[in-house]
Amino acid sequence: MGEISQDAVEKYLEENPQFTKEYFYKKLRVEALGEIFKNSQAMVKASVTFPELTQVEESALCLELLRSMQEEASSAELVTHRALQRLAQLLQADRCSMFVCRARNGTPEVASRLLDVTTTSKFEDNLVAPDREVMFPLDTGIAGWVAHTKKSLNVPDVKKNSHFSDFMDKMTGYITRNLLATPIMMGKEVLAVVMAVNKVNASEFSKQDEEVFSKCLNFVSVILRLQHINYLYSVESRRSQILMWSANKVFEELTDVERQFHKVLYTVRTYLNCERYSIGLLDMTKEKEFFDEWPIKLGEVEPYKGPKTPDGREIIFYKIIDYILHGKEEIKVIPIPPADHWTLISGLPTYVAENGFICNMLNAPADEYFTFQKGPVDETGWLIKNVLSLPIVNKKEDIVGVATFYNRKDGKPFDEHDEHITETLTQFLGWSLLNTDAYEKMNKLESRKDIAQEMLMNQIKASADEIKSVLKFKEKLNMDVIEDCEEKQLVTILKEDLPDPKAVDLYEFHFSDLSITEHELIKCGLRVFFEINVVEKFKVPVEVLTRWMYTVRKGYRSITYHNWRHGFNVGQTMFTLLTTGRLKKYYTDLEAFAMVAAAFCHDIDHRGTNNLYQMKSTSPLAKLHGTSILERHHLEYSKTLLQDESLNIFQNLNKRQFETVIHLFEVTIIATDLALYFKKRTMFQKLVDACEQMQTEEEAIKYVTTDPTRKEVIMAMMMTACDLSAITKPWEVALLVANEFWEQGDLERTVLQQQPIPMMDRNKKDELPKLQVGFIDFVCTFVYKEFSRFHKEITPMLNGLQNNRMEWKSLADKYDEKVKIMEEEVKKQEEENMNGKAAQDSGDGGDDKKSKTCLML
Ligand SMILES: [Zn+2]
Repeated sequence: MGEISQDAVEKYLEENPQFTKEYFYKKLRVEALGEIFKNSQAMVKASVTFPELTQVEESALCLELLRSMQEEASSAELVTHRALQRLAQLLQADRCSMFVCRARNGTPEVASRLLDVTTTSKFEDNLVAPDREVMFPLDTGIAGWVAHTKKSLNVPDVKKNSHFSDFMDKMTGYITRNLLATPIMMGKEVLAVVMAVNKVNASEFSKQDEEVFSKCLNFVSVILRLQHINYLYSVESRRSQILMWSANKVFEELTDVERQFHKVLYTVRTYLNCERYSIGLLDMTKEKEFFDEWPIKLGEVEPYKGPKTPDGREIIFYKIIDYILHGKEEIKVIPIPPADHWTLISGLPTYVAENGFICNMLNAPADEYFTFQKGPVDETGWLIKNVLSLPIVNKKEDIVGVATFYNRKDGKPFDEHDEHITETLTQFLGWSLLNTDAYEKMNKLESRKDIAQEMLMNQIKASADEIKSVLKFKEKLNMDVIEDCEEKQLVTILKEDLPDPKAVDLYEFHFSDLSITEHELIKCGLRVFFEINVVEKFKVPVEVLTRWMYTVRKGYRSITYHNWRHGFNVGQTMFTLLTTGRLKKYYTDLEAFAMVAAAFCHDIDHRGTNNLYQMKSTSPLAKLHGTSILERHHLEYSKTLLQDESLNIFQNLNKRQFETVIHLFEVTIIATDLALYFKKRTMFQKLVDACEQMQTEEEAIKYVTTDPTRKEVIMAMMMTACDLSAITKPWEVALLVANEFWEQGDLERTVLQQQPIPMMDRNKKDELPKLQVGFIDFVCTFVYKEFSRFHKEITPMLNGLQNNRMEWKSLADKYDEKVKIMEEEVKKQEEENMNGKAAQDSGDGGDDKKSKTCLML
């Protein structure tokens, strides 16, 4: 082949247009790429005038970006940065920016991510750190408008565009004149808005620029979509992990709410993508106990005015569990956290508990409404930045707690996906709570069933024969069936057989049951109701009254102290306080009826062991009632009796009267829990003080009776006075109390294998007198002293108490004397030994000391 002439070449090219086209494409591309790879700035020769130059550049750009994508797989921002640099160059734009779109608290917003990207600027300078980002709601600025309309925009003059906001310009001092903006979409979702700002060498961007812009951004959108898909994937996998693990733990643990929460929260901690989180558990008490309402009703304590949950509970965080995931993992449990604890001081958890909102806040310490701790919260130097707080709601829609997540691990603010994930989790927690609720309920039902069965097994309801032993209608009326008897006749024959109040000292504080049989005490009990004139007044069928009284007697177990005799004594003392003590003047006949009846039942089915024993031995009773365990049982038992119509002495009351009676049963029986006695002491004392100041009796009566709470406080204190009345009675009775304590001590030692407290330890019975003196001084004296001051008619009780104190004191002194003599002997012996030792000048005295200790015991 010879030399080829120019003509020949031209001719060939003209005849083979396809070849020609492909040749130049390839050739030019190689040249252009060569330029790009030689110079990082991708300077393309100005001499190249091929009409589709930009296409070449675009493909070159793609290639470069693809390569950098492979290299920088992790950072979409870095790749986008390069793309924006090229874009600035292609468009002859002064600079480019990217805003990301996201939603928080259900509101979409745009936030600056890459700012002021020029052909030569550095990535580090253009990337906006999460704590420095500028945010716009969608109704502010062109970026927001583009994100809202999802349409590209060419703005030749920003001054003429109503959506433009000069906020950023004012901040940076830069002047925006014209711009191109376009949304980066994924399906219907806007991921970002890219902007090219200020055309160089022209007054505005051209139609052609718009095309280049949108074409180039196809590539950017691939990068961003890829990143977003990756992110969504991680979100999904976190969500499913959380769901899976929570479900796992929820079913695993069905016992204790806190344990369950904790297990779930600990298991899923790595998927939560935050540095720290805390769970505040809310008190679920809807209604206060009646005795906690008293100080408020009496005006001694300000009623709660603080925030409440939507269902009306006071917002009380009874526990905070703080999970630390940054640095060394740690879990802190803060029971009864103070209001200024760093997790609470901001007011955000309270706000969430009050409103049930999800609150997603970035740069929380800068917030003006919530006062987050600005400095380090602990010695690790950890700082609060972004906060996501949400309520834990159970299926009944009650807010049971607040979960607060701090600082997303990558430093970015929490977004809607984090909101969704954590919401999933808190929903699960709430749901699991209902599960435990149901379980607890089941447990309660179970325990209740056990107790009901126990009651049945005991077969306490008085039989027909037993009733006949008190109500002698067969002998006296010559009737076979009680139904055939007239009520009036029954009343008459019953009253004939009831003991004479005077003969048995029924009205006396010094009444003693010792000479009366237990069966006779049933009749004494019935007599009490006739004495206060409630049988006829409230139409109590005497058969029912007799059956109830007999059944109450049978409800008491044969134990040393808390037996029927004690039950009767408390009822009799209540009656005496009302009548002889003249306290009846504050109460209606119905109230007196309920108070006396409740007093008779107040310790029904007592097991001879105290509340602490119930808890220690996890008896079914302890499972059923959280506090005042036994008292609540006595109350439930008494109410159960009344549910049986043949035992319901209140059957002819109207609904409101019956409800009053049940309420009084509650107040009086629960009031016998000595733990509550200390709560009502001062309230009672103030009442007595107030009445002492009154000029007339009428005034005092009015003062008490116009306020139901005052009546309740006195009533509750009367119950204490009744319940402790044994300590004011003859000396022999007081000793019986001690016996029963020792029996419980024996149970603790043998069944629970625990060391009982000294008062219940019969091995330490020598210490009992001293303990009794202490009990009288610290508990009992106040009650009877105040009652004697209130009504002088009650003074005999105080006298009885003081007499018994003397008895116990002398026993205690005798014991002390004995101990003193022993100690002196020991001391004497010690001294003798010491002297002996000194004489012998012997070195070993170690064994001596031991034997001395033994001697003392
Ligand atoms: Zn009692």
